[in-house]
Amino acid sequence: MKTIPFGAPMIGEREISAVTEVLKGPVLVHGPRSKRFETDFAAWTGSPHAVSLSSCTAGLHLAYFDLGIGPGDEVIVPAQTHNATAHAVALTGAKPVFVDCELETGNIAIDQVEAAITANTRAISVVHFLGMPVAMDRICAMAAKHDLFVLEDCALALGSTYKGRHAGLWGDAGCFSFYPVKHITTAEGGMLITRRRELAERIMRRRAFGVDRTPGERDIPGVYDVTMLGFNYRMNEIAASLGVEQLKRANEFLKLRRRNHELLHAQLSELDEVRLFQSTHGDYVSSYYCLSVLLTQKLRAMRFEIVQKLKDQGVGTSIYYPRPVPHFTWYREKYGCRTDSFPNAAAVSYGSIALPVGPHLNEDDMSFIAAAVKQAISEVNP
Ligand SMILES: *Cc1c(COP(=O)(O)O)cnc(C)c1O
Repeated sequence: MKTIPFGAPMIGEREISAVTEVLKGPVLVHGPRSKRFETDFAAWTGSPHAVSLSSCTAGLHLAYFDLGIGPGDEVIVPAQTHNATAHAVALTGAKPVFVDCELETGNIAIDQVEAAITANTRAISVVHFLGMPVAMDRICAMAAKHDLFVLEDCALALGSTYKGRHAGLWGDAGCFSFYPVKHITTAEGGMLITRRRELAERIMRRRAFGVDRTPGERDIPGVYDVTMLGFNYRMNEIAASLGVEQLKRANEFLKLRRRNHELLHAQLSELDEVRLFQSTHGDYVSSYYCLSVLLTQKLRAMRFEIVQKLKDQGVGTSIYYPRPVPHFTWYREKYGCRTDSFPNAAAVSYGSIALPVGPHLNEDDMSFIAAAVKQAISEVNP
């Protein structure tokens, strides 16, 4: 039987020997690989600064913390996203104020943002949902008007551009994830990019306990000062060596994702029972994380049956994201969010199925997935 996993890390001989190389040497942290990965990542995205980190969540948390956001403050957060986007805010003691998404893209409903801004709002956060970029000029204009920071969750946005500028370079900072199913992987890892030099420099200190100089910068070992509050959010050399090799393949991966997405999109677009999210057009260039199909109202109750039928045929799927963040227990209990709120985010969470288009799959796989989807739907909807 065919097996088509939703995602699979693309680890080759180069990655394996890069990791082995690190393990044979004495430097596992604070070494040249994390620096190299930062330089390469900055060049690849066109960012003046890049800071390697232990995860995307760590980067978002550090950014809010460094910007002085905390108790009493509010941050606008999209309801339709990974819970990490909201956790990073809640961890500082600030309150996430959720805004629904657009049904066309799953991105934050920009028209609803302004109504959610209060005297306590300090920042607007966005997620480039499944790699489809948000219209950042509109977000940034609103933020400028109300004197707010802008944070971009770019976990699925490696290769996403809006008006020719890479995601993460519109707001104050953008954070990427290198978790195994993302566009490139370091097992666990993240990167923050920013156009603001002082912000990048402070984040580099804060990711390593707020110490004023790294081991390499110390003339005499053990002589350093702690000049700010910080975390241990560094990326180690093993992860960074993977990142350096993976980034070299990012363009090839993106090409395959785009090809797969276009093939699958073409084969599913005439299907009446599903609606496809908007993808690359005009100023918006997606990173093609996956192809999510939104089932029509009538089919939503049968979603898990469809997922099961796809699984029986060997087609792996996922759900982005299983609930609107404010519907999760912790958020409901903490902030009194209601489960009948955020109707569009709820439609996406409870009515969509994410199909794989990753570089681990070929053209035949796309035809196989399309046929499996059509068959599963016809079986539950005769
Ligand atoms: C995966 C993901 C994260 C979490 O990334 P980590 O590197 O695991 O912290 C955050 N936001 C979004 C949108 C994600 O998809």
